[in-house]
Amino acid sequence: MKIKNCQICRSKKLKKVISLGSTGLCDTLLTYEQTKKNEKSYPLNLFRCENCQLLQLDFIVNNKELFHLDYPYKTSITAPLVKLLQSTPSYLKKKFNFGSNPFAIDIGSNDGTLLIGFKKLKFKTLGIEPTNIAKIAKKRGVNTIQRFFNLETAKIVKKKYKKASVIIGTNLFAHVDKLDSFIKSVKMLLDTRKGVFVTESHYAVDIVDDLQYDSIYHEHLRFYLVKPLVYFMEKHGFKIIDAIRIPNYRGSIRITATLNKNIKPNNSVKRILDYEKKRGFYSQSKYIKFRNDIIKSKNKLSKILNGIKKKGKNIVGIGCPGRCITLLSYCKINRDILDYIAEQSSSLKLNLFTPNTHIPVLDESNFFENQPEYALILSWHYGKNIMKNLRKKGYKGKFIIPMPFPKIIN
Ligand SMILES: [Zn+2]
Repeated sequence: MKIKNCQICRSKKLKKVISLGSTGLCDTLLTYEQTKKNEKSYPLNLFRCENCQLLQLDFIVNNKELFHLDYPYKTSITAPLVKLLQSTPSYLKKKFNFGSNPFAIDIGSNDGTLLIGFKKLKFKTLGIEPTNIAKIAKKRGVNTIQRFFNLETAKIVKKKYKKASVIIGTNLFAHVDKLDSFIKSVKMLLDTRKGVFVTESHYAVDIVDDLQYDSIYHEHLRFYLVKPLVYFMEKHGFKIIDAIRIPNYRGSIRITATLNKNIKPNNSVKRILDYEKKRGFYSQSKYIKFRNDIIKSKNKLSKILNGIKKKGKNIVGIGCPGRCITLLSYCKINRDILDYIAEQSSSLKLNLFTPNTHIPVLDESNFFENQPEYALILSWHYGKNIMKNLRKKGYKGKFIIPMPFPKIIN
């Protein structure tokens, strides 16, 4: 669905930042048979609202297509992320007073990794997760309802559970298509006196500073600065009382909001708004430079990869995060360039193919056997860890880091 108004403030003052072409969905990999058929693809354009400063796509894919039952991403596959996610509960416990018998709800709870962190701190917990990953959470002993989170689900939860001390959505607020009804559902379940609503979203400042254009894909409808979040939360009767930058997904922002008018925000909120303004994030010139740098980075990567192929050497992609689909498709990296993508043997993506570019995803044991001359690190945001691991497991070739500006590491 094409949209013409800002997703938060409804303004028509949308300015284009960059067009990344048209791509398939990043968590819908293809079987071999599917690669032979006509494929769906969707426009991928980034716009900016001049009124509330929200960065956003101008095209929304139905979320039942995006988060289908066989959604292949498990949080626990990314070891550094597990550690980061499980540090959130202790941060919140230290910072806010939840009283006795606190209760935490995680929306989009995936395999239960975050809630396990809350359980360790003696919270009662509930996960809400629409895909079949919910079954994995249940097996791990995490109380989970397999449903989309909406008003109907909120009514069911409200009947069965007490009001929540914490409602949290990590890397989720960018995904929700009906944001207004989403926040109304949160409001229905949150303790109005001591409860907090917490979101962690990829931070637009880090996306721009680090040229993370690969994080622009259809699952991410919006890219947040703090300013549009303040606008949105206030519109719905919430007040943001804490804002902190965290390293998750190479730069996120954690916002804590309350419905209690008597709780005063700490100075982090004003400080970060001043910072965004001072750094020019509320003006178009910032995004013109962003666009030009993306194009430069893409051209440099193409030059490096094509140069290697001309010499007859082999390149294998390492890791198949959702975000690599944008990189592959925008930079036109297909099977002529990458032999395959290597993933851990526990990955749900093995033996499938990337949309558009049709690169097969294979077990990483192939990679250690083949020893290709170059490894393109597609999960470059965890690059250091990955390179260290690959060396430890015996890889002898060179690494290519695609972003912010591509470089080769011997
Ligand atoms: Zn707006």
